[in-house]
Amino acid sequence: MDYDLLVIGAGPGGYHAAIRAAQLGLKVACAEMGNLGGVCLNIGCIPTKALLHAGEEMRSAKHAADFGLSFGEPTLDIAKLNGWKDGIVKRLTGGVGGLFKANKVTHLVGQARFLDANTVQVGDQKVTARNVIIATGSDVAPLPGFPVDQNRIIDSTGALVVPDPLPKRMLAIGAGAIGLEFSQVYNNMGVKVKVIEFAPQVVPAADADAAKEFAKILRKQGIEIETGVKANGYTERDGELHVEIEDVKTGEKRTEVFDKILVAVGRRPRSADLGLEAAGVKVGERGFIPVDHELRTNVPHIFAIGDVIGNPMLAHKAMKEGLVAAEVIAGKKSAMDVVAIPAVVYTTPELAWVGLTEAEAKAKGYNVKTGTFPMSASGRAMTLGDTDGFVKMISDADTDLVLGVHIVAPHGSDMLGEAGLALEMAATVTDISLTVHSHPTLSEAVLEAAENVHKQAIHIINR
Ligand SMILES: Cc1cc2nc3c(=O)[nH]c(=O)nc-3n(C[C@H](O)[C@H](O)[C@H](O)COP(=O)(O)OP(=O)(O)OC[C@H]3O[C@@H](n4cnc5c(N)ncnc54)[C@H](O)[C@@H]3O)c2cc1C
Repeated sequence: MDYDLLVIGAGPGGYHAAIRAAQLGLKVACAEMGNLGGVCLNIGCIPTKALLHAGEEMRSAKHAADFGLSFGEPTLDIAKLNGWKDGIVKRLTGGVGGLFKANKVTHLVGQARFLDANTVQVGDQKVTARNVIIATGSDVAPLPGFPVDQNRIIDSTGALVVPDPLPKRMLAIGAGAIGLEFSQVYNNMGVKVKVIEFAPQVVPAADADAAKEFAKILRKQGIEIETGVKANGYTERDGELHVEIEDVKTGEKRTEVFDKILVAVGRRPRSADLGLEAAGVKVGERGFIPVDHELRTNVPHIFAIGDVIGNPMLAHKAMKEGLVAAEVIAGKKSAMDVVAIPAVVYTTPELAWVGLTEAEAKAKGYNVKTGTFPMSASGRAMTLGDTDGFVKMISDADTDLVLGVHIVAPHGSDMLGEAGLALEMAATVTDISLTVHSHPTLSEAVLEAAENVHKQAIHIINR
């Protein structure tokens, strides 16, 4: 055998697996047909965050007038912005290459395809390996009636290249993390943005109260949001896109006009064209590869991790699974056994949560008790000129256990760390209440939400 482990795909899942396996003494190769870093570093997490930051700076430059600081009307050099974003991507993906070298992971360039359960064709070479990890990720899911041309009809990859000139009116189809993040980017740059969502709330997986508060704030920023509707198709007339929008409940149809349409209705696993039949690996529903708690497929020495095994399709989930699969292969006692995987929409404010929503906790039969704390009562939020949002804590009244924490706040993603730890450590609401939080910080809102569960928050009237 050429290698102890061959990893297919160098996204967050794949490169974490390859590096951890090498740290544990295995001879490792990682096959990648595109750029190192996968979707997350090249066309996902990182470039979107760069654009969000730039858009947010434009918005806050205008707001600075509130405290007496005026910069004049911001101007945007679009070529420079795109170049800055591309530079960050290049630095990070180059970093993965450096980490591979330092850890003696062999980087194989080319598309991988199983010939049998231990042999994989990578480009024009045949590679044999004792173990294989499939980390091939996902692609954009198409939407019937809206074929992507990356010009008029774009997907998340097209939306990452800010066009010059900017469109006047943009429709985003899908109010999940990706649709909303791009909506805010373009809204902050002066584009008139409308987002539509099939489900009755934005970010359907989020807590209903948090999603409602979040949508209210985004609307206040000028983003038009409509839920419970679907886009059926469009016709192009005189360079304008006439979109048919249908109310899901009533069936009522109408037409609205845009210059650009972003399709952001989800992603699908990249499990076809891998020769999985030749390896005997079973593929499940909608193309996702089923695995057990050790990330093993039905073939014991072939593992699968990340987006290709299913939801939530998030980078940190893929990373954790990569580490677990590598450790199992190296003979360690390891398993994918986490209490909760956090989720974040990186707009301003951020929508960030970990654990159960109120509806999920009730459905599981918990005696649910909640506490909330509005950011408008946070001294730190006031000093940042950003007081929109709240923290909501879900707990079990019988045991005082923290079941979920839902944050709509500036830097909500950074406030979420302690909530994730609380869930993993099975902390009670009292444990959080007893923990001294620095003052003034945004994370005090988590403390006061905990105190509000017991009707003892100091900075609000407890109801
Ligand atoms: C616009 C956007 C924004 C996002 N923002 C965030 C965010 O902020 N936070 C977050 O947690 N997640 C975010 N995500 C999701 C995140 O990018 C994915 O969850 C993550 O990249 C999944 O990692 P992965 O390792 O499973 O696969 P991927 O990152 O998809 O990597 C798979 C790699 O495998 C390669 N590959 C596929 N097939 C083969 C083959 N046969 N041979 C060789 N190579 C192959 C591909 O070229 C690719 O590089 C975002 C996604 C998008 C699209």
